[in-house]
Amino acid sequence: MSHENFSHNESPTNHLPKRIALVLVDRDGTLIERVDYLSDPNQVKLFPGTIPSLRTFAKLGLRVAVITNQSGIGRGLYSDSDMNAVNDRMLALFQAEGVGVDGIFYCPHTPDEHCSCRKPGTGLAQNAADQLGFDVEHTVVIGDNISDIEMGWQIGVPSILVQTGLGNEFKDQVKLAGGIVVADILQAALQIEKMITSTSMESPDA
Ligand SMILES: [Zn+2]
Repeated sequence: MSHENFSHNESPTNHLPKRIALVLVDRDGTLIERVDYLSDPNQVKLFPGTIPSLRTFAKLGLRVAVITNQSGIGRGLYSDSDMNAVNDRMLALFQAEGVGVDGIFYCPHTPDEHCSCRKPGTGLAQNAADQLGFDVEHTVVIGDNISDIEMGWQIGVPSILVQTGLGNEFKDQVKLAGGIVVADILQAALQIEKMITSTSMESPDA
């Protein structure tokens, strides 16, 4: 898999999604507030829409995988265990509200390592789908970075840019390409609910 090859021939998926089973959601700037190279659990802060979005996914019967680029590990800025402490804090905040996620998948590499997992590479998404027992084509992507959206477009699944985190930097680019831009993760969850509802209306015998 090449990472050099994210030319502009990728395009958003505008046809109705295949059956959505798994939500691939970014961590920093999407589920929690973006802090550069976050490694302190005390700096973990959920967005107001985070818990309601996870409730929406649960109600819809969707599984959720967090997929996150953590190049701070590869850069030596923090360790795997620092990142795990941040994740554990986030999961504790979820658990306190009776919600959760099904897995957290991360890429520890720097861009220079040219791995296949760093978004917009599709390796993390593939790994999450494999481990949770789904076809990667039955996913939907939510993130605040163009790399999230490009990853989803490469897979060929609906991809939703949120305007929290870095989202404002990329909203014009995503809109221009015909992609989906919403305010935050809760609005993304409501979009997904609409996609699922319209898909099931088209195939009442499903
Ligand atoms: Zn990687």
